[in-house]
Parts: sequence; structure tokens; C-alpha cells
Amino acid sequence: MLVHIPTELYQHLVSYSRLQLPEEACGFILGTQSDNDNGERHAAAFAPLPNISKQPRTQFEISPTAMLPFLLDQEHPVIGIFHSHPTSPPIPSHHDLQSLWHTIPTYWILSLQQPEQPDLQLYQIKKATLTTFHKLSFVIGQ
Ligand SMILES: [Zn+2]
Repeated sequence: MLVHIPTELYQHLVSYSRLQLPEEACGFILGTQSDNDNGERHAAAFAPLPNISKQPRTQFEISPTAMLPFLLDQEHPVIGIFHSHPTSPPIPSHHDLQSLWHTIPTYWILSLQQPEQPDLQLYQIKKATLTTFHKLSFVIGQ
């Protein structure tokens, strides 16, 4: 699966995540309807959502009431779940792997561990084995 990311969307992820420091930022990545069966996905917009976790510096949690309208919107399908890692690498944490996000096809993590060099990674997390995740390819700005 290759994911296409508009430059503005990437910049939005970085600026929003910086604003939420020292806490983790989170939200949904919305796609376009043109997604077809060639295995590619086109990200169209980022919808920030409040992080309601009790440990927001190291975990994120989104209220079901906040996410529901997005999950019901078929015109702008949710193609990804996004969150930031303020002080750790862009690798799914143990807590991330325990959370139930397997119905959303892509999992995005932006690391701000090096403040001047944001590091975005995309993953696909398989339900069968909770510890299995693999990196996805993506291009920004094409
Ligand atoms: Zn995480």
C-alpha cells in the first residue's frame, strides 16, 4: 500500500502536534472517495481530535462521541489514525498495539523527539498478532 500525502496535510500534522506539546496530539486522517483497488490511498485532510487520555504525555485516547461523526461520514472516509510521540521515536508503543484500531487501515505516528526534524512513519497493524506491524510507503506532495 502506498499512501499519498499532500504537503499541506503534512505541515498541518507537524504544526498541530507542536501546538499540543508536551502532550500527544491525535486525530483522524480523512481520505478521498477515489480510493480504489490499486492499493494506493490518498490522504485529503487531517481532523484533529482531543486527547482525553489520563496520561496524555505518553498515550492518547479519543472519545467515542468525538470520533463517531467521522466514522459515519462516507464521503470523507477515515483512512488513518494519527498521533504524535512528543519524546519517543515513531514506533508503536506497547499501549498503541493494545488499542483497538484495527478497523482503520493506516496508523500514523509523528515523532517530535528531535524538535527540528519531525519524523513521520506510517504502519499497517494486523489484528491477528498484536505485536506485528510493518512500515508503509508514502510520498509527500505529489
Ligand atoms: Zn503512541
